[in-house]
Amino acid sequence: MKLLSCGFKLFFLLVLLLLIEACATVPYTERSQFIMVSEGEEVALGTRAFEDVKKESSLSTDPALNAMIKRVGKRIATASGIEGYEWEFIIIEDEQVNAFALPGGKVAFYTGILPLCEDEAGMAVVMGHEVAHVIARHGAERVSQGRALAIGQAILSVALSSSSPVTQEVVGNAYGIGAKVGVVLPFSRSHESEADEIGLTIMARAGYDPATAVEFWKRMAKNSEGKSNMPELLSTHPGDKDRIEKLNALRAEADVEYDKALAEHPEYRRAPERIVMPPKKPVKNGTGKQKITEP
Ligand SMILES: [Zn+2]
Repeated sequence: MKLLSCGFKLFFLLVLLLLIEACATVPYTERSQFIMVSEGEEVALGTRAFEDVKKESSLSTDPALNAMIKRVGKRIATASGIEGYEWEFIIIEDEQVNAFALPGGKVAFYTGILPLCEDEAGMAVVMGHEVAHVIARHGAERVSQGRALAIGQAILSVALSSSSPVTQEVVGNAYGIGAKVGVVLPFSRSHESEADEIGLTIMARAGYDPATAVEFWKRMAKNSEGKSNMPELLSTHPGDKDRIEKLNALRAEADVEYDKALAEHPEYRRAPERIVMPPKKPVKNGTGKQKITEP
């Protein structure tokens, strides 16, 4: 029987060792996580992907917006208390209502989300969420899940190699479906919830009013009403109502952090700066949405 072969036992032992080596803890929530990617590899993956994004995108050169995203990003990253990341905060000229974070401290906002942020505090809601994805190492966790699934499938194919092809297919399919629905989807949702939770705490620690978070997510939900292409920020989440309820439940603790930040930094008491969108660039040949119209 192949299951008992020496090679298989060695393989199984290696997998076990990998699993033992692969436990980490998420800061703030203290959730145990399974990570099979070294921090060096994680940062290299994120940095490389970010360089590609920057090459392929049109980056905003608006001085006020760039100054704001760097200021908000730095304040929140510093307030998180997690060191060792080479943070970068950029704005991409794109109508998508979205933002994203890559491992290693790389955060990008699309210009499409900025009007919904309304001001610096709204930007801080999204920034807190994105910085949270980074410090919670959600990217590395996703890569690790993929690797674990691949190992699982390899083990399964060895274990089933003497079974009939029909059994192999049925079990293989079940495994694949279970892996996708049971592991990947709820995990993404739990990552989103966790990013909301950590994000709320760190925005408050950075001196941004946590009350803004609920207002911002309400605006996001309203904006996506009736639209088929839901922004990624919302699509993996179990629902706006649930999200807002959870944020409200976390408000009391976040308010304590916010009051502490205001006491330590009186300069944070000033009203958040409004986001002023630069005029859209006119598109030549009349093919874009923006046309030059003569008075
Ligand atoms: Zn997210």
